[in-house]
Amino acid sequence: VSTSIEESKRLSLAGQLAAGIAHEIRNPLTAIKGFLQLIQKDFTGNTMYLEVITKEINRIELILSELLGLAKPHESKFEKKHLNDTLDHVMTLIQTQANMKGINLIKAYAKPLPECLYDENKLKQVFINLLKNAIEAMPQGGDILTQAESNDTHLRILIKDQGVGIPENHIGNIGQPFFTTKEKGTGLGLAVCQQIIREHSGILNIRSNATGTTIEIVLPIKNEGAQ
Ligand code: ADP
Ligand code: MG
Repeated sequence: VSTSIEESKRLSLAGQLAAGIAHEIRNPLTAIKGFLQLIQKDFTGNTMYLEVITKEINRIELILSELLGLAKPHESKFEKKHLNDTLDHVMTLIQTQANMKGINLIKAYAKPLPECLYDENKLKQVFINLLKNAIEAMPQGGDILTQAESNDTHLRILIKDQGVGIPENHIGNIGQPFFTTKEKGTGLGLAVCQQIIREHSGILNIRSNATGTTIEIVLPIKNEGAQ
């Protein structure tokens, strides 16, 4: 037991450190970005280099904001909510992106689910990350099915895509921070999802083959671990 307390102390210290560093880096970045915009305004030469610098700064910002998501597990706001509403909102946010890729988002959670205690912003982040991964895995388009069901104690959510799947030799690396197979990936999306689901005392499983990937999330309705 004592080792696991030591371990969690060490992890939370690492998290605080990461959050601190991320903030320290973000402030000068914001300043640099502001000045770049000013330079770009009355610059007469080739702006290509300025654009490259701006693009790279945007990328660092993205990585920092995802790292902050990993580093701040304690700042949770648990509330009683209906998952149908949360899923609906996420679907609306992601709809345009899906349309552009020829992807149908199919909602298979028509039945109202019981009220559940969770941090809505964090679960939204989970579903957005998972749906984005699904979309990115389906360059030829297709269907993404989102199912949700409940029993007396748990909610179960399934996100099924018809994408390229995860090759066997990658399965072990999936969810490890910074593991990505994408040119512009950060490899932090699933790590953030895993962390958030853990904070909700839930489980996240990944099943995948060459015809697609299914992500399963199981959440306790009462969530004793909350607050
Ligand atoms: P990123 O999307 O930035 O690469 P993630 O943590 O979200 O980071 O995903 C890590 C890796 O897991 C991806 O690069 C991809 O190889 C794999 N992956 C995740 N979701 C899927 C999916 N639905 N289908 C196929 N591969 C996936
Ligand atoms: Mg991702």
